[in-house]
Amino acid sequence: MVNVGDTQKSLRGNHQEWRLCSTCGCGFWSTNGKFDICFSCFNSPGATYQDKRGARYIKLNPSDPYYAMTPRNFLCFGVGWTSVARYTMAQKLGRCLDESEYVRHINKNLSDNNPANLVLFKRTICPSNDNEPI
Ligand SMILES: [Zn+2]
Repeated sequence: MVNVGDTQKSLRGNHQEWRLCSTCGCGFWSTNGKFDICFSCFNSPGATYQDKRGARYIKLNPSDPYYAMTPRNFLCFGVGWTSVARYTMAQKLGRCLDESEYVRHINKNLSDNNPANLVLFKRTICPSNDNEPI
């Protein structure tokens, strides 16, 4: 019987902890304390993930109008993931962002994805123009 908080080493030598999925409640081994949702929920559209910096990510449904802007393998998460900041900006503009566009948080709080806190930038060939908001 495994209990919440039990630990083990994976076959690859990673630290794993038995946790309850924050979405479905089932038990799973969380590697290096990185995840609070199970693999099954992680692969379901609508799943979210927050990294250590506070940035949030969301897995979109293939039928979502902004699914086309999700990279094929975003941060090694797999298909369909994008940052909530990019997703929010796309909804605000009513179009997908292209790969040269990126989103910054005005108050530098990466978990604050309120549309009023987001500003769109475009990468340019000339680095001095890189900080000009669109
Ligand atoms: Zn789950």
